[in-house]
Amino acid sequence: MSPQTAAVFRRRLHRWYRRHCRDLPWRRTRDPYRILISELMLQQTQVSRVLDFYARFLDRFPDLPALASARPARVMEAWAGLGYYARARNLHKLAREVTTDRAGVIPHDPVELRTLPGIGAYTAGAVASFAYEKRAALVDTNVARVLHRVFAPDAAPKSGPGLKRLWRIAEDVLPRTGKATWLHNQAIMELGALVCTARSPKCGQCPVRQGCASVDHFAPR
Ligand code: SF4
Repeated sequence: MSPQTAAVFRRRLHRWYRRHCRDLPWRRTRDPYRILISELMLQQTQVSRVLDFYARFLDRFPDLPALASARPARVMEAWAGLGYYARARNLHKLAREVTTDRAGVIPHDPVELRTLPGIGAYTAGAVASFAYEKRAALVDTNVARVLHRVFAPDAAPKSGPGLKRLWRIAEDVLPRTGKATWLHNQAIMELGALVCTARSPKCGQCPVRQGCASVDHFAPR
């Protein structure tokens, strides 16, 4: 991809985000613990469901030491109803490991983050970018769908070489600074959640429709 194509994509996307982004509690903080909780809760779970759980969980466990010292049963109780309970078990393990081995500091480097329990490539990028404003790429289902449709409709977005290609594209379109990357990553996820949705993308309202390789595919016939 040419630097110019990437720059045009970013400009249109960022402008749209500034106007249309949702005000979500985890966008108002850079606290790595809070970002981590939100990212784990948001895996496989809708934003509207996470909002309540997130606030209640943080009331009970306001910081990493509070979570690390909790009994496992209390953590599971606070997670009850959210599903995918391995997330809660891993989170608790992570809190204890970071408290014991890392003086309570959640790392900022995606490679180090990935050594922690339950942290995959996406979550590592999300914590690095959203908590520490590092220049880190991330690809979740929403981002994969957007990049696949705009730049690589021939790449299978779910796994294997297709997904690897989308990670490379995610790197190619990153802004230069970590601060701008924060907004960029939020924006691309928001576009996937609100406009370039899985079943019925709203191409008519999409800021990157010019230059999207799939726009004709979704045009009304
Ligand atoms: S133009 Fe349509 S398919 Fe392309 S990114 Fe926008 S919503 Fe998705």
